[in-house]
Order: sequence, then C-alpha cells, then structure tokens
Amino acid sequence: MNSPPIIGIIGGIGSGKSTIANIMGELGCIVADADANIAIILQQKDVQEQLTGWWGDAINSEDGLLDRQAIADIVFRDDSERVRLEDLLHPLARKMQEKQFSVADSSTKALIIDAPLLIESGLDVLCDAIIFVDVPFETRKARVLQSRNWTEQELQSREATQYPLDKKRKRADYVVINEGDLGAVTLQVKKILDEIRRQLA
Ligand code: ADP
Repeated sequence: MNSPPIIGIIGGIGSGKSTIANIMGELGCIVADADANIAIILQQKDVQEQLTGWWGDAINSEDGLLDRQAIADIVFRDDSERVRLEDLLHPLARKMQEKQFSVADSSTKALIIDAPLLIESGLDVLCDAIIFVDVPFETRKARVLQSRNWTEQELQSREATQYPLDKKRKRADYVVINEGDLGAVTLQVKKILDEIRRQLA
C-alpha cells in the first residue's frame, strides 16, 4: 500500500482551517492539530521551567499552568521573543505530529497538518498537497471576534507576524471557499480529497 498523502491546510486566522481539518477527520483522515499539540507541550514541566526562566513568574497562572494570554502578550509584541518561543516549540510539535501519523493504516485516507504556521515553520515541504481556506477578511473578523474574545487589533497584530495571505494562496494547490453551510463545505472538501488521492495513486 502507498502511504497516505500528507495534506497541509493554510489560510488566514479564523478562515476555518480547524473546521476543514475536522471535516477531513470525519472523512477518515488523521489530523495533527498544531495548536492543540502546542497546548499539551506547554503543560510539560521542562517547557514551563524554560519559559519561566525566560520571562519570570508573571507567565504562571494560579492553577499551576502557564498563562497563554500573558505569553501571547510578550511574543506578539516582540519578534525576537516570538522566534525564541517558536524555536523551542516547533521541534516538539513536529515530534508529536510524527507520533500521531505513525498509527496510520490502510484505511487512513490522508494525514492532515492543521498548523497556522505551516509555511513559516517549514512543514509545507512535507506536504503532497496544500489546501488554502479562503474567506473574506470581514467574515473571518466576525467569526474570530465572536469565538475568541479578541479585539480587531489583536487579530491584526497576530496576522502581521505571519506570511502574507496572497503568498499563502499562491503556495496552495487547492482552494476551499469556507462560506455557507458546512454541508456545502464538506462537499468541496470531499471532492478535493478524492482528487488528491487520485493524483497520488
Ligand atoms: P482557523 O482554524 O482557521 O483559525 P476555525 O476553524 O477555528 O479557524 O474557525 C473560526 C471560527 O469560525 C470558529 O468559531 C468556527 O466555528 C467558525 N466557522 C468556521 N467555518 C464556518 C462556516 N462555514 N460557517 C460558520 N462559522 C464557521
């Protein structure tokens, strides 16, 4: 059996990358969710100690875990701190992803990388195909302000640290228009998944 294709999902913040990845999970793919993996990594004792060593106790919250908002405030204000954090976390996240993909078998339709920084962290080179999730900025903004409790300023400053969206779109092999109901989106995703599997068969 050929190993399943590796598919990366890219797009702006709040475009629906995780939503599309979940749909692919339901279609029989294994999904590595970089945000979820990083959240687990941030609970590791050695990682907590390293970060507290850099930034002090202010990043610890009362429940003994790291305060992710405090960390976001540091790294989205200072590029060198963000790079330092990414250099620590990305290799650990990559290891987790490899472990998650290692359970693939003949029923696995594809291996999905849902990583907001797919291109920035070089994970794109692993991918057999890349899907760009396309949604107008106003729609993304409305979704993110509602679901994440961010301000528009927060959305823009985070997005400014990422690779420009038009370049991400150009790097992609397929585009999903994530507007309208999820049924219509699922149909697009199914078609693309079939096409990728056919191309690589
Ligand atoms: P990303 O992973 O790209 O940041 P998410 O998948 O988390 O984006 O989606 C951002 C928000 O938009 C979530 O609250 C999600 O439920 C919502 N959302 C995603 N796709 C749709 C859609 N087609 N219709 C309505 N809401 C959506």
